Amino acid sequence: MNIRTQLILSYIGIVLLVLFAMGLYLRSALKGVLDKRITSELEVQAALTREFLIEQLPETEKFSYDEIDNLVDRLGETGKMRLTFIGVDGTVWGDTERDGQALIEMDDHSTRTEVQDANNFGSGMIDRKSTTTQTDYRYFALPVQRNQNIIGFCRVALPKKTINSALGNQQRMLLYASIVGSILAILFGIFSTGAIIKPIKKLTQITQSIAAGENTSKVEVKSDNELGQLLQNFNLMTDRVHEQIDKISVENQRLETILNNMNEGVLLVNGASEITYANPAAIVMLNLPQMYVGRALIEINRIPELQALLLEAEQTDTVAYAEIRLGNLMESEAEVTIVPVAAESEYVIVIHDVSHVRKLERIRADFVANVSHELKTPLTTIRGYAETLLNDSSTKSKKRKEFIVKILNHSARLSRLVSDLLELARLESGDVELKQSQCHLNSFHEPILDVFEPVLEESGLILNWDISENIPQVSVDHQLFMQVFVNLIDNAIKYTPDGGEIEVSAELGGTNSDAANEVVVHVTDSGIGIPLESQSRVFERFYRVDKGRARKMGGTGLGLAITKHILLCHDGRIWLESELGQGTVFHFALPIVGQV
Ligand code: ADP
Repeated sequence: MNIRTQLILSYIGIVLLVLFAMGLYLRSALKGVLDKRITSELEVQAALTREFLIEQLPETEKFSYDEIDNLVDRLGETGKMRLTFIGVDGTVWGDTERDGQALIEMDDHSTRTEVQDANNFGSGMIDRKSTTTQTDYRYFALPVQRNQNIIGFCRVALPKKTINSALGNQQRMLLYASIVGSILAILFGIFSTGAIIKPIKKLTQITQSIAAGENTSKVEVKSDNELGQLLQNFNLMTDRVHEQIDKISVENQRLETILNNMNEGVLLVNGASEITYANPAAIVMLNLPQMYVGRALIEINRIPELQALLLEAEQTDTVAYAEIRLGNLMESEAEVTIVPVAAESEYVIVIHDVSHVRKLERIRADFVANVSHELKTPLTTIRGYAETLLNDSSTKSKKRKEFIVKILNHSARLSRLVSDLLELARLESGDVELKQSQCHLNSFHEPILDVFEPVLEESGLILNWDISENIPQVSVDHQLFMQVFVNLIDNAIKYTPDGGEIEVSAELGGTNSDAANEVVVHVTDSGIGIPLESQSRVFERFYRVDKGRARKMGGTGLGLAITKHILLCHDGRIWLESELGQGTVFHFALPIVGQV
């Protein structure tokens, strides 16, 4: 039942209740008033009748039925009451209700209470059923006296139905009033509840909109009564709610931006281990499908360590941490932290990819091992020869010389190794101060020839320097960059059999398809070539395709690493092409001056 019906029904109830109470009161009041009025009317009528009868009754006191009854009937016609004249002996001589024989047959009325009372007390009144007419009457009787003697009684009677019909009228009026009152209550209810219900309906609409997450308008406040205050407070409340929602959405946006741009993967799983949220990093790291929300983590990603860690966090309800490989051996290593969210039975999984750090650590460990090994070999040899020389004075002078040469060679290699390491460290640290100047690549030709001419002659190798004068100038640290040419040509010489050919050429090239923006230099040899699997690794420190051969050649395994770093310092790049047994081409590119 809605409020309007409830209110209208209560209005009707109130109206009916009031009318009922009023009816009860009026009924008893009216009854009293009518009673009094009828009684006094009866008294007046009886008195008048008595006077009339005293005057009209025959002197003889020998009454005849016709004469008296006529008299009584005449009197009765004037009022609406029943009139009776009863003799002292109880004979009814006249009655408005009975004539002729019926009158004569009327029984003795001296025993009637009202007649006896009139005889004894001067008047008698009673409500009773008439034995003659079988109707309810109110009787009033007075003695009729002549010469101090009672000669009879005059009695007036009013049918009770006259009284009852007056009361009935009043009840009918009340019924009409109830119907009219109820209709008025309905109309008033409809009208008055409109003022209450309209704002309540509006309020309901707005609360529904708020619940649906819509931006809502305010409720119009038209009055300052209780309802007006409620609406005002409601408006204040919606303002606060909107403020809070705005605040939360700003916070959410901020959080989302952070989560979206984090390198760490963040994942949220519920008590049933179902994913409820994953940031982009986590999606990539765990290779999650598009529809991951609501799916169990174990179903999507079968990493036993991750499941075990989640179980640990669930069972202990504390932070669980482990380093896990996300997939097979080739995939990332990650530090995974699982934090239970208090009271939510949710778990935040933070995945920090440490592959890069671990790789660096491995490289560093390898590097230390490599350096130690590289240093140890010549040192052991030097120590061995030195000890032999020291302990064995009988060694022939030719042999001694041979040993000393070996010691010198190894110490030279050691010093080369140390200086290469220092150089590499310097380049890698990034604080190399380049003394760059513009120059043509041909400016390196002379110095290169100075370095390599004896070796070239010795091995019968031919070096073709074929760089056009038209090639634009480059900006390099001449002394440092010399090492690039030295390393590449030195390698070409070392790994090309005697009688082979080495060519240094250059052309314009570039990453930009519209215009050339770099000079690309090619150092080509017709040597042994580099196997495919080693091609990507030759720029690593200490990487050598054939360790024994390279060491014999006096290589430290650092030449190409140094070369790569020098080029990086000059915003350049280096790569290679090689075919086993056919030869190798090292390409390096440098930006053209003015186009960096
Ligand atoms: P190294 O001092 O041993 O020459 P590098 O760093 O210069 O060290 O070269 C690394 C490895 O790359 C060499 O050990 C060699 O195996 C291979 N290499 C470099 N240049 C050539 C080349 N021109 N032909 C064949 N192999 C080469």
